[in-house]
Amino acid sequence: MRLLVVEDETRIVELLQVALRRAGFVVDAFATASAGREALSFIAYDAAVLDLGLPDGDGLELLASMRRGGSTVPVLILTARDAVEDRVAGLDAGADDYLVKPFALSELAARIRALARRQSGRNPLLVITDLSINTVTREAHRNDQLLELSAKEYAILEYLARNPGRLITRANLEEHIWNEELQPNSNIVDVYIARIRRKLDDGHELKLLETVRGAGYRLRAPSEAKLCVRSAPSAPASPPGTPWPC
Ligand code: CA
Repeated sequence: MRLLVVEDETRIVELLQVALRRAGFVVDAFATASAGREALSFIAYDAAVLDLGLPDGDGLELLASMRRGGSTVPVLILTARDAVEDRVAGLDAGADDYLVKPFALSELAARIRALARRQSGRNPLLVITDLSINTVTREAHRNDQLLELSAKEYAILEYLARNPGRLITRANLEEHIWNEELQPNSNIVDVYIARIRRKLDDGHELKLLETVRGAGYRLRAPSEAKLCVRSAPSAPASPPGTPWPC
């Protein structure tokens, strides 16, 4: 998940970046409303954290202009203001949640995950046949066996599972999973995918993770995986041109 953070207090930004990245988010931080607005016009963020008191304006104005422009990005307002009327104003301007400083970083991360879930209306459990991913505990099981995934491996698998059956390009993964810019010829994405594939698919007849040569990766959609399981024992050879046979 890629997050936009607009906050001008350097110390808070540093803490947020460390804590949120450790929690598996990709974080872009900006100190002004105008820089945040510009970033929003380029990148499809999964959620935004906005401070209210910014050097070039009020976070509420930024939020209101986002909503006027039709943005549905979930927004959490972060502020020292704790008067009831400030909270009401924030929620009226289109905020989805509100956290008053000082706050616990773990609570912020949990609230952001909850916002993203609510926004998409998704069940916290992602299931593809015998693979289940609990997006609250951030654990993945295949056939009831816990997959020992690093934070980044988990983030990639969850992202693929949120887009089942869809081609996910390397650029998609770089944008949503990596905080740092990758070198043009870096093979780090392939390295991570290979590790995930080993943990996810080794020893299982039904392979869930596919590499689409020269394009990217995809995880089987639940409907497709079910079909494969049903037809597995005596599955006829796939007709030529079938992109990804069972
Ligand atoms: Ca501020």
